[in-house]
Amino acid sequence: MRRLSDWFAQFKPSTKAFHGGLHVPAHKTQSTQKPSRAAVIAPILFVSLRQRDGKMQIPEVSVGDRVLRGQIISRPSSPASVPRHAPTSGTVQAIGQHADVHASNMSAQCIVIESDGKDEAQPPLADLSDYTAHSRDDLLARIQQCGIAGLGGAGFPTARKLQHTTRTLVINAAECEPYITCDDMQIRECSAEIIKGAQITAHILGAERILFGIEDDKPEAIETLKQAVLAADDPRISVQVVPTKYPSGNSRQLFELLLGVRVPPDQHATDFGLICHNSGTIKAIHDAIILGQPLIERYVSVTGEAIAKPQVLRARIGTPINALLAEAGGADDQARLLIGGPMMGYAISDYSAGLKKTTNCILLLPHTPSEVEEACIRCARCSDACPMELLPQQLYWYSRNEKHDQLAHYRLFDCIECGVCASVCPSNIPLVQYYRHSKADMRQASREQAHAERARKRHEAREARLEREKAEREARMAERRAHLHAKQNANNQNDQASNADDKQSAIEAAKARAAERRFKRQSNEGFDPTTQEQTSDSKKAAIEAAKERAAARRAERKKANSDETDSGTLGEKPREDKLAEARRQARQQQKAAESKTDNEAGSAAETDATEREDKLAAAKAKAEARRKARQQQKTAENKTDNADDVDAAEREDKLAAAKAKAEARRQARQQQKAAESKTDNKAESANNVEATEREDKLAAAKAKAEARRQARQQQKAAESKTDNKAESANNVEATEREDKLAAAKAKAEARRKVRQQQKTAENKTDNKAESANDVEATEREDKLAAAKAKAEARRKAREQRKES
Ligand code: SF4
Ligand code: SF4
Repeated sequence: MRRLSDWFAQFKPSTKAFHGGLHVPAHKTQSTQKPSRAAVIAPILFVSLRQRDGKMQIPEVSVGDRVLRGQIISRPSSPASVPRHAPTSGTVQAIGQHADVHASNMSAQCIVIESDGKDEAQPPLADLSDYTAHSRDDLLARIQQCGIAGLGGAGFPTARKLQHTTRTLVINAAECEPYITCDDMQIRECSAEIIKGAQITAHILGAERILFGIEDDKPEAIETLKQAVLAADDPRISVQVVPTKYPSGNSRQLFELLLGVRVPPDQHATDFGLICHNSGTIKAIHDAIILGQPLIERYVSVTGEAIAKPQVLRARIGTPINALLAEAGGADDQARLLIGGPMMGYAISDYSAGLKKTTNCILLLPHTPSEVEEACIRCARCSDACPMELLPQQLYWYSRNEKHDQLAHYRLFDCIECGVCASVCPSNIPLVQYYRHSKADMRQASREQAHAERARKRHEAREARLEREKAEREARMAERRAHLHAKQNANNQNDQASNADDKQSAIEAAKARAAERRFKRQSNEGFDPTTQEQTSDSKKAAIEAAKERAAARRAERKKANSDETDSGTLGEKPREDKLAEARRQARQQQKAAESKTDNEAGSAAETDATEREDKLAAAKAKAEARRKARQQQKTAENKTDNADDVDAAEREDKLAAAKAKAEARRQARQQQKAAESKTDNKAESANNVEATEREDKLAAAKAKAEARRQARQQQKAAESKTDNKAESANNVEATEREDKLAAAKAKAEARRKVRQQQKTAENKTDNKAESANDVEATEREDKLAAAKAKAEARRKAREQRKES
């Protein structure tokens, strides 16, 4: 029933129409007198790599590579294109800039293939003739792989266009533009393949209806197509003849003519369940799916009044235009060449450019003088004829003044550049050229705006990133500062606590040392800690006892000497040796005694000089000791007054104490010498003694006591040496060892005394109340003891000299 209604419908004139349009002379019979002919494969082919979005494809071959027909030689750099295939076998001669078939007349990157004349094809692709058994994706992939694009002029990738599912598939066979006959001829010759291709396409789209739209000026094609439809016996397919009116071949106008559906400019045909494909594209889909052949050639009309043999050629993609002109018998030298029809075609200047997939016609028109452009007279004929119901005169006005906003407002981009307005303009205004120029400007401005917007967003993102990084950095620094501050506070608190403990400990230690020093001092100096009374009587008793012991030892020695002289029991020789040794030791002891007893046997001058030096050194030492004592006193006072400065004061005290100790030791030695010589230096200035006596009385007393002790030791040693002259050599050597030991002990004791003196000097301020009478008594006793010791020493020395 459906088929019957469609069959009757084809005989009824369509009641559907679109706005505007133009009836123009067809000029189609020139090229349809003979069947199409396969053009000779040119020796050099130029395959353009320019995509419809202006970008270049990525070559898959290199210069010098041999290629086979159907081999992919470049791949798209964006989804807006399809791969290119080698149109024939040969060698890649070059890849570079060459003339291109493009409205801009600008050259483009091309792959130049030198044909080897063999036209050797690569192995065919897998058989997909049973297309219903394959998935939609597999079929689309094959279509994309074979490089199929819209052959009606747009060149949009067919596989992408087929991704939508639609109810109605419209096959555009109108071919409305004058002179163009390639689709007409192809339908005549390949109607069965086109029907098959339509069925495959409908299968991919899931279309329920396949509708061919063809103008009524192609009766042969209509008949052939209808026969093929009958042969296909597919109820989905119908052929609808539309009246010849330009531009019925535009998809929107064809939808109106066939279905009465007007697709608004801001919507797509798929929104209405419609899709439109050129018949030549449908034939290419058939070849890709059924034959596995990529799109490497197309039907092209080479026609016009200026070509010798207008005809339709089946030419390989990349065939130079001039080669096709030659195939058609050549063109007049003055001919005007257009790519496309007279309404929408454009001129090119370089005829060596290679044929492209979208090149459906090469039109050569006789040269005519250019018409003079005149001012718009606002006749509105252009707007009446515009099939898109635009206002061409307004677009012209704003285009001239580059009012892009107004151009957008008046829907410039809805213009299909059909050229109807320019054809009807009495002022010969090339309106379409103005529109193309404005479109290009607006696209460029849009790209620049998009680029600026991207740059602005990147800048803002960068600024935000820098701000974020700065904030993070500052936060990290603040955190580190806070951590460091907290750590410092904790350390300070610990230090304060530690310092307080240390200070307290130091104070306690200092107190303990002071108490110990006081106790030792009191013990050493005969103080009774409880009564604080000096036991001078015990000293006197000790002196008397020492005197008695010395007298006893002298008596024993005299007795022993007389016994030894009388006995004569020793041998002569050993006796002489022992006597010699005894004399030698006596001499050494004498020298030591002489030096210790202020060089009594030395020259007076040397003694005086030494004495002066000793006095001067002693005075300096005393002054230094007083200064150190004052400093120490101040330090001690400061220690007790200022607990916070204990550490620093302690360090200073330690340093000063160390220096004072060293100086005190040196001074003690000098003082010791000076004390020994004091008895001989009674002429020492009373003023100096008085000035220093108060401060140094205690130290001098200590030194004198030490001198007395050492003198006693020396006396003992001398006595033991002189008393033992007759003793055996072993006893002499033992005595030497004892002397050495005694000397070492004396030195140790001297150092200890020095330390005590130093301590005493430190405690001088604490002992200012010490009784001067006691000191003077001690001095007298010391002087007496020293005088006795010296006298005894001199006596011993004389005895030794006599004996030796
Ligand atoms: S070229 Fe544009 S403005 Fe002119 S008639 Fe065609 S669609 Fe309308
Ligand atoms: S047809 Fe030409 S002269 Fe008339 S209004 Fe349009 S542009 Fe102006």
